This record gives sequence, structure tokens and C-alpha cells, in this order.
Amino acid sequence: MEPIPVNCPRCGERQNQFASDSAPGHLSSKKVVCMACQYAFEGEEYRAGLEVARQEIRARLQQRSRL
Ligand SMILES: [Zn+2]
Repeated sequence: MEPIPVNCPRCGERQNQFASDSAPGHLSSKKVVCMACQYAFEGEEYRAGLEVARQEIRARLQQRSRL
């Protein structure tokens, strides 16, 4: 299972993975790290990134429905 990709605050790459030492269970209890620079997201940073990703998806859907 892969996390929803969000922009890395350090390198800007959008390639995330769950840290291998993450305990199974809720998404909120998993640690997300950047595949490019190994930056470990703070829970708050990942949540903020998720919100941005959701808004982008919504904007893309709206754009498509206008065509
Ligand atoms: Zn990074």
C-alpha cells in the first residue's frame, strides 16, 4: 500500500512511501518518508500536503467537467 503522494517540504519531490518501521494500522499512525531525500514527514506536514493534493484533484475534476 502506498501513501497519497504529497510534495516534500525539503526537496519538492512528490514521491512518498511509508517508513518500513511503521506499525500496521491506521494511516495516521504511519510515518511517511520522501523516497528522494529520505525526509520524514511530520504528521502535520503530511496532513497539510494531503489537503493540497485533495484540492488539486478537485480542481482537476472540475476542469474536466467543464470540457
Ligand atoms: Zn524529499
